[in-house]
Amino acid sequence: MARYIGNKCKLCRREGMKLFLKGQRCFTDKCALSRRDYPPGVHAQRRSKVTDYGLHLREKQKLKRIYGVLERQFRLYFKEAERRKGNTGENLLSLLERRLDNVVLASGFALSRNHARQMIRHGHFRVNSRRVDIPSFQVRPGDKVVPREHEKTKKMVDEAIEVNKSQAAPDWITVTGEAAEVVGLPRREHIIHPIQEQLVVELCSK
Ligand code: SF4
Repeated sequence: MARYIGNKCKLCRREGMKLFLKGQRCFTDKCALSRRDYPPGVHAQRRSKVTDYGLHLREKQKLKRIYGVLERQFRLYFKEAERRKGNTGENLLSLLERRLDNVVLASGFALSRNHARQMIRHGHFRVNSRRVDIPSFQVRPGDKVVPREHEKTKKMVDEAIEVNKSQAAPDWITVTGEAAEVVGLPRREHIIHPIQEQLVVELCSK
């Protein structure tokens, strides 16, 4: 699947909030949002009142950008969320959370979502002892995500664990050393991003 390769800090500035797309840099003074707290573009600061549609659209864009998903794939997630029983918004968030790149990041094995994605693409992780190189792979309860046994992988994962040591994994993932096990399904309260998923559902259902 394609991915966004442009300037990530511009995405945060456009949404007016930190999307945490650059790992540790996002927690330092180097964060672009702390220095330029206004949307990118020459006329952006002159933009007039946000319409109702604009509000809905921004919420959808925010969600896509946080999880690094482009429109086409996002629509597929939405379709699947609608098809499943229960609340569509919560189903959508759950599907996004269960992506393998999110699990690698949430387990502390990568420095950023892009780093997680790149490591997965390069075959650095195994799910239930099988190599999986698809960042959008959906994990299930009982799955074990483990870095492959290789010096290079170990070095990268150790470095990330050291950097992320102050951040705990969510309740639905248990991390033991360099192994993560999915012990449940992500629920709404596990999602820390300030997303109003109902607005996304209203927009995508039209
Ligand atoms: Fe966003 Fe991180 Fe860039 Fe700050 S440093 S603007 S949080 S991507």
